[in-house]
Formats: sequence, structure tokens, C-alpha cells
Amino acid sequence: MPLLVVRDLKTYFRTGEGLARAVDGVSFDIHEGQTFALVGESGCGKSVTALSIIQLVPEPAGYIAGGEILYKDIDIIRLSEQEKRRIRGNEISMIFQEPMTSLNPVLTIGNQIVEAIRLHQHLDRNAAKHKALEMLDMVGIPTPAQRFKDYPHQFSGGMKQRVMIAIALSCQPGLLIADEPTTALDVTIQAQVLELTRDLQKEMGTAVLLITHDLGVVAEMAERIAVMYAGKIAEIADRGNLFKSPYHPYTQKLLESLPTRQKRGHALQTIAGRVPKATNYLPGCRFADRCHRVMPHCHTVMPDSVEVAQGHEVSCHLYPVSSIQHPASSIYLLSI
Ligand code: SF4
Repeated sequence: MPLLVVRDLKTYFRTGEGLARAVDGVSFDIHEGQTFALVGESGCGKSVTALSIIQLVPEPAGYIAGGEILYKDIDIIRLSEQEKRRIRGNEISMIFQEPMTSLNPVLTIGNQIVEAIRLHQHLDRNAAKHKALEMLDMVGIPTPAQRFKDYPHQFSGGMKQRVMIAIALSCQPGLLIADEPTTALDVTIQAQVLELTRDLQKEMGTAVLLITHDLGVVAEMAERIAVMYAGKIAEIADRGNLFKSPYHPYTQKLLESLPTRQKRGHALQTIAGRVPKATNYLPGCRFADRCHRVMPHCHTVMPDSVEVAQGHEVSCHLYPVSSIQHPASSIYLLSI
């Protein structure tokens, strides 16, 4: 049984321009210990999917309009506020893109970890401090006993993100949501933080939902990948299949836009046009205005999700259920 089952999730926002369908019928499963990536351009709905899972959709503008989020077979959408708080942090925790805005600048690092541990594990102060020092050591903060008393501004960006990982993993959650965890960091620190996340995940058996626009990070980290576009999942597959045989024209274009050694010295491919506004979706395939293989009915009929190979699903009219074909292009993962 999967650890997390998301079925037909719909999360909408009331805006001055009308109803924004940020997440509009998204389904996927995450298994224990698995790294699952949601990838796509800004505004495709991946972060809102994450906020929906951890039940932090900003209300009252935002709300979950439909679907189920089953964590260990319990629908967390329908839990009381108190039960949601128990799951958040204990069972599902999250690290955000910008560690500076997630840490309180007027509290010491040590106090912030201790408070997080005490809130969820009901340990006394000494036991929580002991655990906090252990976590700081585990995430590679040198001389944890000294750094315990420091304030966030005394830490570099990479060190702050390590602290956030320590807080997120201190209660040994079943699922860690990492929303663009390295975007605000420079490249060498990015690699260290990703490696740390992967090592700790293995050690603790935590599943990771990785939210990113960076396919290079996905190729390194994820076992299973869902490509999102305009509030929906365009394609979902295991890493090997997605990179070797992408079926959806959007996935193909995303992979073509990746820098590789073979493309050195050549201009990178771009995808013409823009993601449509979530308040203004037209009927039919939402990628139709940008698609190089668009057909007349793409503008009027929304494609269903079709299984093109075992565990590999695509939402595109090029692949009707009765005539599964192989994509023209293959082997995109040459050397990212
Ligand atoms: Fe392109 Fe049509 Fe497939 Fe949409 S359904 S991705 S427009 S071919």
C-alpha cells in the first residue's frame, strides 16, 4: 500500500480575476522511502499541491475544492484542525525554498530546534536539547554545542538550509516535502544539501516529495517523476522511462531545453509561449497553444490519462488507448 495517495486533488483560489484552478485534478502515489518529484514551470501548481498535502493552503482565498489525500490510508483533508496539526511536523514535514524566511531571526538556532522537537515529541527540555544537538551534528553543522547558541544571521544560506532539514527530520517523519530546497543556494552548496537530504533519507527511510523546476536535480534525486503543466499532470513515469522515452510533447520540449555536454556552444531550446493563466483555462489540452504536434481536436477535448507502458501514464491525444506507439525521440539523459 502506498504511503501517500493523492486522488483527483483540486485546489482553487478566489482572486480578483476569478477562480484560479491552481491544482485541477491531480493524482499520484508515493511509496515508503521513495523520492518522488513534481516538476514543471513556475505557476504549474506543484507548490500548491505540496501545500495541500501538508494542509497549509492559505485561507480564505485558497481552498481544497475536491479529491482525497490519503496518508497511511487516512484522508487528511477531512481531519480536525487538531489532528492536522499532529500529522504536520510529526508525520509530514516540509522544507521551503528560502530558509531565511522560515527561521525566526530573534531566536537562537538551538531554541528553534528544541521548540519543534518539544511541540511534537513531548520531551522535557534536556532530552529535547540532546536530540537537537544530535540533529545538528547529523546535518553536518560543525561544533554543534557552540552553534546551538547562535542566531540565524550568523549562519550562511547553506547552513540555514541544513538547520531547516534538521528541524524537518527531527521527528523522523514518514514524508518530507522539499519545495525547491536548493534554489536560493549557490551551486556547490546545492549539491551538498541534496546529498545530505539523500543520505538522511536513506538512513531514516523517509519518503521525499521533491518540488522543483530543475530537471538536473530530478535526474540526480528522483525515482519517480510527475511532470505538471497548468494544474494537471501531463506525464508520470519512473526516472529511467521518463528520461529515455518521454511521450508528452511538453516533457520532450523540457528535456530538449536541458543543457548537456553535447549541446555545448549551441543555443538552448526554449518553449515558445507562456503557461496559460489559472483563471483563464480554455477547454481542451492546456498545452495546445504551445504544442508542436497540436491537432484540431486538442483545442476542444481534454485528453485523458493513458498508460503507455507499465507505470508510465501520459495525458495527450497522440496516444489513444487503442494505439499505443513509441515516441519519435528517445534517450534524452545523455549527460546532464
Ligand atoms: Fe499537444 Fe494535443 Fe497532445 Fe496537447 S493533446 S500535448 S496539444 S498533441
